[in-house]
Amino acid sequence: MRDKGIADTTVLDAMNKVPRHLFLDSSFLEHAYKNKAFPIGADQTISHPYTVAFQSELLRVQPGDKILEIGTGSGYQCAVLLEMKLQVYTIERQNELFKRTSSLFRKLQYRPRKFVFGDGYKGLPEEAPFDAIIVTCGAPEIPDALLSQLKIGGRLVIPVGVDHQIMTLVVRNSETDFSKTTYGEFRFVPFLGGKE
Ligand code: SAH
Repeated sequence: MRDKGIADTTVLDAMNKVPRHLFLDSSFLEHAYKNKAFPIGADQTISHPYTVAFQSELLRVQPGDKILEIGTGSGYQCAVLLEMKLQVYTIERQNELFKRTSSLFRKLQYRPRKFVFGDGYKGLPEEAPFDAIIVTCGAPEIPDALLSQLKIGGRLVIPVGVDHQIMTLVVRNSETDFSKTTYGEFRFVPFLGGKE
């Protein structure tokens, strides 16, 4: 990750601490530390390690910051955020993954502040505002609900697009002013509404 340009030592140290193989199906064990995405069930994938590093670095968070993750999936990105000493709120819409990842968190003693089974499109208004929000599925557009749940100065990192995604950072400069920066192409599973 360092060779690929990731410089934030908080991110690198956190990724060093999380045993990625425990978040994968045992049939992929020998590949766990390659820079690859893998199926995690329910037609979903664990993100590439580089994508996790890139998004985590873009957040520019401090220990203790309050962060919302949309798309818990395997729980790997969430575990990295917890190792970065953040207060993590995370939402997953697929019940099968929600149940499996809940028991994995218990087993590994990873403790998000809240792990919610629900639709991340709406964010988590009862816990807002957040210092940062990270979306780990491809969003056709930026949901207004997420923008309104950022603190002033808060950062939303979201891959935007339908068949491929452009990594996008939105910073909330004031109550009504937001600035947007884009960072190239990535591929994610889709951000879907509702829950199943
Ligand atoms: N952060 C995950 C990435 C998993 S893939 C990891 O480290 O493994 C993206 C996840 O987003 C999938 O599990 C998918 O079910 C979930 N997702 C898609 N749309 C969602 C929505 N509206 N709300 C919550 N989760 C969603």
